[in-house]
Amino acid sequence: MIKNDPFANATKQVNDACDIIGIKDKGIREYLAMPNKVLRVKIPVKMDDGKIRIFTGFRSQHNNDRGPYKGGIRYFNPEGGVEYMEREVMALSSWMTWKCAIVDIPLGGGKGGIYVNPKTEKLSESELERLTRGFAFKISEIIGPGKDIPAPDVYTTGREMTQIMDTYGKLNGNISTPGVITGKPISMGGSLARNVATGLGAAYCVREAAKALKINLKTAKVVLQGFGNASTYAGIYLEKMGAKIIGASDSKGSILFEKGFPVSKLMEYKEKTGSVVGFPGSKKVSTEELLTAKCDVLVPGALENQITAKIAQNLKCKIIAEAANGPTLPEADPIIEQKKILVIPDILANSGGVCISYLEWVQNNMGYYWTFDEVANKMETNITKGFKDAYALSKKHKIDMRKATMVLAVERVLEAFNQKGIWP
Ligand code: NAD
Repeated sequence: MIKNDPFANATKQVNDACDIIGIKDKGIREYLAMPNKVLRVKIPVKMDDGKIRIFTGFRSQHNNDRGPYKGGIRYFNPEGGVEYMEREVMALSSWMTWKCAIVDIPLGGGKGGIYVNPKTEKLSESELERLTRGFAFKISEIIGPGKDIPAPDVYTTGREMTQIMDTYGKLNGNISTPGVITGKPISMGGSLARNVATGLGAAYCVREAAKALKINLKTAKVVLQGFGNASTYAGIYLEKMGAKIIGASDSKGSILFEKGFPVSKLMEYKEKTGSVVGFPGSKKVSTEELLTAKCDVLVPGALENQITAKIAQNLKCKIIAEAANGPTLPEADPIIEQKKILVIPDILANSGGVCISYLEWVQNNMGYYWTFDEVANKMETNITKGFKDAYALSKKHKIDMRKATMVLAVERVLEAFNQKGIWP
């Protein structure tokens, strides 16, 4: 029995969506919830001291009815151990299926990883490369540009993606296949705009939400939780849209600055001092004060499980854009709904990353590369439509946006499944 089983959560979300759509058939529900395949592999690695160490890796392929599996590879060691990690990648692969369907990209859901923490375990670069290539070898038969396209995730970068691409190419007659993986460095066939993708996508969602609620972004105040990749770029693009950023945080603390501050100045300050705390003119506040500050838009863009029921009671924002994965606890959702705060759920708000991963794959397959603006504009089209479709469903069924996005995604996957049927 796995404690706080993430796959049980993912299954519940599918069943909740099925309840709303009216799918009673147990077989269809199970079909939608269960991964198609979960591969568990043993990866023997010769360490620098000459000893052999065995690692465990996974690849969960949840659903490919709409297109090849897509999702990250993480090097991580969750507290629950190897068994927990298996359930975690199964859940994450399920969420990837829904994320791709919401923004209507022709990909399915996958996720994988190795049970290892390269930071705390201090693996050398060559050990890490042997581990990565060993994992790539073990999963090489189930990945491919038309099969399953991994990407970076927790503690993996463009470097590991390049090593996986190279291993796969050499195993397959030394062919060049940049489309087997995304999140590559630009010189290896990566896409422009990938670095800003998640924050930019979140900003597009906020813009659409503000239109729906008739909030003028030019006079809107925004609080960011976090000041890393997702949250900083969300701040930069919301600022470009006219909004004022009045709060930010990092692992050292949170700040509020009533009058608002230029994001670039806070970036310079953090670069110099290592934290947002102490930024001239700002007030240091607690996490709770940051999250419950009076503002129009709250962007939880750092960690999971931040908005508890207690915090939800005291929220004073009109829109929550979940740039981070899972920042809101389930018990907070009904309170937020009652307060008529519009939540842009994580699977929509942070889907900019997978949108641009998709566009990277398209460019790789064409062998032709787009400019930054071309990539960003294509992503804008998908995300904006995803928001509008989910918002329309939330109005139609009188449900919150979290449920609406799941309903939208499940309906889209089901439509593809119904076309194909079951074979063999
Ligand atoms: P990141 O490492 O660049 O930034 C994380 C930020 O959180 C940092 O500013 C860090 O200081 C801050 N932080 C850490 N502990 C904190 C604490 N206790 N209180 C406040 N802030 C704290 O990571 P990221 O890539 O921006 O990812 C952030 C979230 O967005 C994660 O949930 C991630 O899964 C999600 N996400 C990111 C992407 C992406 O492309 N970057 C895509 C999808 C989802």
